[in-house]
This record gives sequence, C-alpha cells and structure tokens, in this order.
Amino acid sequence: MPLFLIEHRHTEESCPTHNPDMVRGLRAHVTPENAERLGVKLLADWVNEPDHHVVIVVESPTLAAAEGFGAPFAQNGSVEVTMGLTCDQVAKECLGE
Ligand SMILES: [Zn+2]
Repeated sequence: MPLFLIEHRHTEESCPTHNPDMVRGLRAHVTPENAERLGVKLLADWVNEPDHHVVIVVESPTLAAAEGFGAPFAQNGSVEVTMGLTCDQVAKECLGE
C-alpha cells in the first residue's frame, strides 16, 4: 500500500494545546483504531511541540484518504501530504528486484 507523509505546522498562537477540547479531539483522532476506521494505517506519529511541528506517516490506498486523515490539523495550520517509499522499496526498484 502507498506510503504517505502528513506534515503539519502551526504557530504558538494557533497551537491546539491552548484548547483542551482540541487536544482531546486530536488525541482521539491520531490512534491506530481511528486511522483504520478512516481507511489508513498509522505507522508513525511524531510531534516537536516547541517547534509546533507534527509528522504522521500512514499507509493509504489513495492520496485522498491520507489527506482526509490529515484534515483535522488544517483548523490550526498547514497540512502537506506527500507520497513516498521506504528505503527498502527504493532499493528494490533501484536494483531491479
Ligand atoms: Zn503547538
């Protein structure tokens, strides 16, 4: 299944940590169970809170489903979704395996 990087950035002013309801909502959103419900597989979830930078990696059948999973973060800032590969997949393609 294709691999997607979901990258979200917000500012100190728009940080969801100022709103406990938003914190609860995003925590409930970014779980393996909820990802599965939305048709994607959550592989990684990384936050650098001092930089207000969120990185999520999912497997998803389509770009649209990956964008859908990232969509709740758009209420606080930018969301960029990019398709990519694992190192192993690149090596296989490169080596003709
Ligand atoms: Zn923040």
